[in-house]
Amino acid sequence: MKLKTTISLLGVAIFMVACATNPFTGKKTMALVPNSQIFPMAFQQYDQFLAENNVVTGTAQANKIKKIGQEIATASERWLNANGYAGYLKDYQWEYNLVNDPAVNAWCMPGGKIVFYTGILPIAKNDAGIAAIMGHEVAHALANHGQQRMSAAQYQGLVAVAGNVALSKDPKAQEDFNKYYGIGSTVGVMLPFSRKHESEADRIGLTLMAMAGYDPIEGAELWKRMQQNSGGQAPPEFLSTHPSSQTRINNITAWAPEAKAEARKFGVTKFKRN
Ligand SMILES: [Zn+2]
Repeated sequence: MKLKTTISLLGVAIFMVACATNPFTGKKTMALVPNSQIFPMAFQQYDQFLAENNVVTGTAQANKIKKIGQEIATASERWLNANGYAGYLKDYQWEYNLVNDPAVNAWCMPGGKIVFYTGILPIAKNDAGIAAIMGHEVAHALANHGQQRMSAAQYQGLVAVAGNVALSKDPKAQEDFNKYYGIGSTVGVMLPFSRKHESEADRIGLTLMAMAGYDPIEGAELWKRMQQNSGGQAPPEFLSTHPSSQTRINNITAWAPEAKAEARKFGVTKFKRN
């Protein structure tokens, strides 16, 4: 009982001091667990996922995922440096892997660990479509959305996990980590981000894809294709966590011009549409 009280008080204390600012929105966000603790856990989970799944290497498609991933990450670094956030990415270790799996899915773990499934490629359709998905996933990682999801959950009673440094030796803590980061390597769940986080990721993602030289309006086309695919045969994992509503498509269409305007500040004048 005494220990329990100590842990909850500790949780409150950490919660009170651990607010970070999201560089892209300027808003304060919760950051109960620091990146230095979260990222190593994520990297370990990511490696485990890769070991247990069929990673495609050396093909034109796999190389394309890596190339576009690097372009988007470079864009994010340029944007952060130009806006007074140099060093923001120091703990990030970007990685972009294609996994041979018919699931229509893509995700990003904290610290920049991205996976595309081959099943999403027909819907991405072209480079601009891949850039739109990549921009969105990278945006989640930059805004530390996974961390915030974990923080919120922990604050509701998972403070013990926050204090657990030897996570790999604690199956329960590991399970909680998987659950709150929503990666299906061991528990098979994929929790949706909040609508607010999705909207943020869409908006930041559009700027990143525009800065990488892709027309952000293709983001809207991508979500239209997602919508059309929802009645298809492929299991729509990505859609279950990313509902493709008309509002989303409308927002992306409205934000595309401002994303281009931002990219022009960085000298980007041509925007590829395919
Ligand atoms: Zn998302």
